[in-house]
Amino acid sequence: MNMLLTDEQMVLQKDFKDFVEKEVFPIADMQDHKECLEEHIVEKLADKGYLGAVISSSYGGKEWDPIVSGIMHEEFGRASTGLRSLFTVHEMVAIAIQRWGSEEQKEKWLPKMAKGEVIGAFALTEPEVGSDAKSIQTVAVHKENHFVINGQKKWITMGQIADIFLVFAKYDDKPTAFIVEGNRAGFTRKLIKGMLGFRASMGAELFFQDCEVPEENMVGKCGTGLTHVALSCLDHGRYTVACGCVGLGQACLEESTNYARKRKQFGERLINNQLIKKMITEMAVQVKAARQLCYYAGCLKMQKHSDSINETWVAKYFASTMLDKICSDTVQIHGANGCNQASRVERLFRDAKINSIIEGSSQMHELLIATNTAMTTRRTKFKPKTEEK
Ligand SMILES: Cc1cc2nc3c(=O)[nH]c(=O)nc-3n(C[C@H](O)[C@H](O)[C@H](O)COP(=O)(O)OP(=O)(O)OC[C@H]3O[C@@H](n4cnc5c(N)ncnc54)[C@H](O)[C@@H]3O)c2cc1C
Repeated sequence: MNMLLTDEQMVLQKDFKDFVEKEVFPIADMQDHKECLEEHIVEKLADKGYLGAVISSSYGGKEWDPIVSGIMHEEFGRASTGLRSLFTVHEMVAIAIQRWGSEEQKEKWLPKMAKGEVIGAFALTEPEVGSDAKSIQTVAVHKENHFVINGQKKWITMGQIADIFLVFAKYDDKPTAFIVEGNRAGFTRKLIKGMLGFRASMGAELFFQDCEVPEENMVGKCGTGLTHVALSCLDHGRYTVACGCVGLGQACLEESTNYARKRKQFGERLINNQLIKKMITEMAVQVKAARQLCYYAGCLKMQKHSDSINETWVAKYFASTMLDKICSDTVQIHGANGCNQASRVERLFRDAKINSIIEGSSQMHELLIATNTAMTTRRTKFKPKTEEK
């Protein structure tokens, strides 16, 4: 397997880097303080075609391969996790429609999503239901030619600005996915402020009170909401979060080395201190390892390999857990300066924690990876070199 980027992938990587340096770094802290996305940034992303990253070219998207889409998340994750999360949820909805939607749904939504005229958000979590998604309490009842949805969703990234929501509700007691337009009667949203991290991700709580959606808004079939639709979305979501963590880790490494090169204590630059060197070494190695796990998962996705889901769990688990230590060490290297809002490091530290909760918490990953490993790993039988006499 070739783990090096192709020329074409490197050209796109440079394009993402340049855009992020020019358009995202200058506004990232401000977005975090204001707890919202900067005006016009979504238009700029749309102009570049970035919102159509995973959408097929037949619907006007870029149809980038998983490695390129991962690199995009890495580069944006380096600067702004809040903004990067827009790509995750928008792409999750696009993937659901592209893979499981009807031809009418594809034609209606994908070209607009590719152009950024319609923003999608993913609505699974509820106030009382997080990891145990099959227990969702939102219900959909079939009446004549429409469904009536009642329930509540919480912590929905981009919920404040999204135009359509992929909503999971129980229809006939079976988890089922529906597209709900943001302007439907019976649908309201309330912004959520004061999150630890991802503060620019425009989170919202959603309320459905006798919200009527036409029959044709069901995505997939009754009962396939979690087993098929959410499965594809969450697999992509996890992959993008893992790649975003690599970017965030890279940012920590850059901040730490810059600071340690400048800061002097006891007449010496911090970078010359062996204990600081150890922290930087660990950071550099962990970030590289996480990046390789992401590339590996991306390569398997390109091949539509059956191991790709498991390797995405591994990449997401490793990348999000390594970040906890890396970001903590980054603040450590910055001392008091890293504990203040004036430092970017403080934001990186807060953002890092969220990654081990979203798209399946670390504990859920531990259960999944262990179960899969137990099923697929067998001890090789010991064969003696010489036959017993
Ligand atoms: C910033 C942010 C953005 C988000 N965006 C979205 C979004 O766009 N759409 C959406 O649908 N949701 C979103 N979420 C919700 C997210 O998906 C959930 O937080 C996540 O699924 C975990 O659910 P929970 O927070 O309810 O924790 P719970 O499921 O209540 O778990 C609490 C703790 O218990 C652990 N735990 C639970 N069950 C087990 C078990 N069986 N064994 C061991 N440990 C267990 C968990 O790992 C966790 O540590 C977002 C959350 C955040 C913080």
